[in-house]
Formats: sequence, C-alpha cells, structure tokens
Amino acid sequence: MEPNRAEGPRSRRVPLLLHACCGPCSLEPVKYLRMEGFEPTICWTNPNIQPLAEHDRRLDVLEKWASDVAHVGLMVAGDDRDSWERLVAPAGFDRARRCRACYALRLAEACRVAREHGFSHISTTLAVSPYQLFDACRETLAGVAKAHGLTPVWRDFRPYYGESVEDSRDLGMYRQNYCGCRFSAAEAAMDRQAMRDWRKEARAARREGREAPPRPGGLPG
Ligand code: SF4
Repeated sequence: MEPNRAEGPRSRRVPLLLHACCGPCSLEPVKYLRMEGFEPTICWTNPNIQPLAEHDRRLDVLEKWASDVAHVGLMVAGDDRDSWERLVAPAGFDRARRCRACYALRLAEACRVAREHGFSHISTTLAVSPYQLFDACRETLAGVAKAHGLTPVWRDFRPYYGESVEDSRDLGMYRQNYCGCRFSAAEAAMDRQAMRDWRKEARAARREGREAPPRPGGLPG
C-alpha cells in the first residue's frame, strides 16, 4: 500500500481509534495511517494475552514507545478476561472459530471506546502480522464497526511486516513469539518443534543425497 500523501499537520488529520495488539505491530500502522491523513489514538484491549505477566509486558512496551517515540495518544480500555474465557476459550484448538471470536471481543470493545470518545473511524494493528487470519479479521472489523456506526479503516499492512520486525529490533523492543492466548503459545511451540525436526531431517537428507522433506507451515506468533 502506498500512502496517499505525506504526513501533514496533526490538527488537519482525521482522528482515528487504532486498536493495537502490541508495540511492534503498531509501528507501521501509526506511520502509514499518519501519512494517509489520519491521526491515530491507540486503544489497548487485549484480554486474550496470557499469562498476565506477558499481557503487562506487552502493554508496558507499547506505552513506552507511544509516549517516548511515536508521541501518539493511548487509551487503556477494558480487558474482560472472564468474557474471553466464556466466549473464546471454548473453541480451543479450532483456530478459525477461536480467532474470529477473539477478534470480535476485542474490536467490539475498541468500537465502544471509539463511540464513547467521539471517534468516527476505527482500525486495528492486527492487519500487520501475516500470521493473523486476515479475512476473518477484516470481516469482523467491518461487522462491529457497522454495528457501532463507525467507519472501518482496513488496510493490508502485511507488506510492512518485515519493516516492522526491523524497526522494532532497532528500537530494542520486546517481540513475542506467539499471538497471545495459551492455545497460540502451544501451537507456536509445536510449530517451532516441527521446524527443528524439519531442519534436522533436511540436513540428514542432504548428507545422504536424498530429497529434502517439505518445509512445514508455521505460526511463530
Ligand atoms: S491466536 Fe491470537 S487472535 Fe487467535 S484466539 Fe489466540 S490470541 Fe486471539
């Protein structure tokens, strides 16, 4: 996605509430939304992140970057962990069902906050990571935004994922290796093990002149 125009004065930009899943995934959306003519205010609502220490660590990283580097407003909204357990956790390892419910819970809370604070536009940093379920998230944002009378600003930020990895490393930001919930932590651990097994097998195949096995898919986080 090419930005439409260079970043103009803050006062002339369109206010937008940006649901943020973590610090590293916020870098590029804030940059490119500003270049497009929006002024994002970040909204944190992520009751999916487990354990609580991990949740607090990600929020801390985001808050420091927002205040010290990006100079972007940040609101901490509700983190309804009971609702997450009731509405999302029962889907267990059915990832499609689980993530859709998780997006809906978080984005609905962000929309509620947007309405409460007079925003007309809503977006999410979940459109950065290629490991999110892109279409499910886009559809969910469109649905909850419509229900709250808001305009969804959905952009495909995935081409900037590599840039976000580099930028966040340059800033010394903590980068997690799983999406957030306990199910994703288990899935990511299994994926990493599958990758280690594949590398071992591929090395053995090379040594023995055999064809290498197919590379497994992955869910690093
Ligand atoms: S993998 Fe991520 S989006 Fe999906 S349910 Fe877990 S925390 Fe939510």
